[in-house]
Amino acid sequence: MRLVGVEKKHGIRASDTATLVFEDCRVPRENLLGSAVVKKKGASKSGDKGFKGAMATFDASRPIVAAMAVGVGRAALDLVREELGRHGIAPRYEAPAHAQSVIERDFMEMEAELQAARLLTWRAASMMNRGVPNNLEASMAKAKAGLAVTRITQKAVEILGPAGYSKKLLVEKWMRDAKINDIYEGTQQINQLIVARRILDYPSSVLR
Ligand SMILES: Cc1cc2nc3c(=O)[nH]c(=O)nc-3n(C[C@H](O)[C@H](O)[C@H](O)COP(=O)(O)OP(=O)(O)OC[C@H]3O[C@@H](n4cnc5c(N)ncnc54)[C@H](O)[C@@H]3O)c2cc1C
Repeated sequence: MRLVGVEKKHGIRASDTATLVFEDCRVPRENLLGSAVVKKKGASKSGDKGFKGAMATFDASRPIVAAMAVGVGRAALDLVREELGRHGIAPRYEAPAHAQSVIERDFMEMEAELQAARLLTWRAASMMNRGVPNNLEASMAKAKAGLAVTRITQKAVEILGPAGYSKKLLVEKWMRDAKINDIYEGTQQINQLIVARRILDYPSSVLR
């Protein structure tokens, strides 16, 4: 096994992303996960239990990524609340929409996005814990939470102005860390495709 290089990344720098090369690597048959993929004459694919097994792991890992996104979004929101509070600004939930400031409206929108992502994440994780099929709910949670944390952290940097963009506060780091939640374990677009296929009952050959 050879380490080819370690990526220099935009975010999640505490976690290394590296390219490993396995040359002339023989895997014993008994170590295969699922079954060997053997292309039979005339058939497009066969023996794809390994692939299906790998896809099924997403039902468990997508709620986890969604939970990470919710955690980062919560941290950003808590910081914004704290900083606004230090300047005597608190969102007035009871005020009519036309009387609210832009900051108040932005903050409430961030809260709503986070809460929606959190509830979807809890549902997907709870179904997984109970052994209930959660393929649709896992993709919903991941698509929503990845997008929500990207928007929330960007807005947090914006609301906090120069302090938000500087490295004095952690919020610029959270903004960089947020986007990966919208990318790995299936991008937002792919998870939206899965949701659409499930809801509309279209096969992947039709909706792709
Ligand atoms: C830092 C980092 C760490 C990673 N860690 C892991 C890991 O630990 N394990 C692992 O297995 N993978 C990991 N990945 C890989 C990651 O899961 C993939 O990069 C991601 O799923 C996107 O796949 P892709 O790179 O093939 O993008 P592509 O498929 O090339 O997609 C590029 C863009 O096109 C869009 N797109 C593609 N197809 C469609 C479509 N049909 N409709 C609409 N839009 C579409 C995508 O949404 C995306 O925006 C990691 C990636 C990064 C950046």
